[in-house]
Amino acid sequence: MKEKCIIIGSGPAGLTAAIYAARADLNPLVFEGKNPGGQLVGTGDVENFPGFPDGINGPMLILEMKKQAKKFGAKLIQKNINKVDFFDPQNLKIFSGDQSFDTQTIIIATGATARWLNLGKNEERFWAKGYSSCATCDGAFYREKKVGVVGGGDSACEEAMFLSKFASEVFLFHRRDELRASKPMQKKVFENKKIKIFWNTIVTNLLGENILEKVELTDTQTDEKKIFSLDGLFMGIGHIPNTKFLKNILDTDENGFLQTKNKTQTKIPGVFVAGDVGDKKYRQAVTAAASGCMAALDVEHFLSK
Ligand code: NAP
Repeated sequence: MKEKCIIIGSGPAGLTAAIYAARADLNPLVFEGKNPGGQLVGTGDVENFPGFPDGINGPMLILEMKKQAKKFGAKLIQKNINKVDFFDPQNLKIFSGDQSFDTQTIIIATGATARWLNLGKNEERFWAKGYSSCATCDGAFYREKKVGVVGGGDSACEEAMFLSKFASEVFLFHRRDELRASKPMQKKVFENKKIKIFWNTIVTNLLGENILEKVELTDTQTDEKKIFSLDGLFMGIGHIPNTKFLKNILDTDENGFLQTKNKTQTKIPGVFVAGDVGDKKYRQAVTAAASGCMAALDVEHFLSK
């Protein structure tokens, strides 16, 4: 049996695509992946998704999106896709282990994963308890608090700038003695009086009782360690797009993010992209949802031709 539309991924991009595709009678089949819901599942309260003035818990938002997609007839399967065969665009194939599925169109919405520091169990322990990767999502919880950001690229600097609107002090921990961020971004950071940069510094441990309270910092030049009190720590060391199973099949940029033309289209007719897997810049739940909507509308248009 050939499906009309398969969606890979079940974050806001995949689920919004599912809602639109289901309402257009395309009977979408959604492969949720091993960790259904994507990055929002690891988030606390989401205060910037329109329609929820009092905020909504990340997993709850995903649950509501799922309910909405199912209500219109989307079928959700908790399986991972590990291989694709796009050799014949008239019959696109995807594989979950030994099982294969045929389809006319595909929306890839597999998202991206924040790069972690690899500090072991404490990283999981304090995740969403003072340790986060999204300043735009969680920054407002740190009014008049002391926060740290790890990294020296545009993301880390942007996070530090954003956090400086709320926090009393922002500490940027960078492993080298010069920033990787663009010059205009560097200028903004250097001119911001609330931001202090710790050069040649890496975070080597996270400490606290139930929430993050302190970090261990190590000087990369001298190996000297010190304990530093903080209310929150944000990762800004990049994201890894979940595109491993598409290697050498679709075009990506140097970081692995899928490249598109006309916002959602890949070089293979019938294969579309939505959400963070093709967006290294915005990475918000609402932008992912919007691109899921666009991809589903483009699928509908493609099939009607
Ligand atoms: P990035 O440019 O790859 O920077 C990652 C930063 O994290 C680097 O400073 C790197 O240090 C540091 N880092 C990596 N692994 C680390 C580790 N294990 N421990 C400590 N530090 C580590 O990533 P990004 O900032 O997310 O940006 C990705 C792309 O998106 C870039 O092309 C960027 O220009 C773009 N972007 C643009 C905007 C904007 O235009 N407003 C905003 C965000 C991102 P080193 O410098 O030593 O390698």
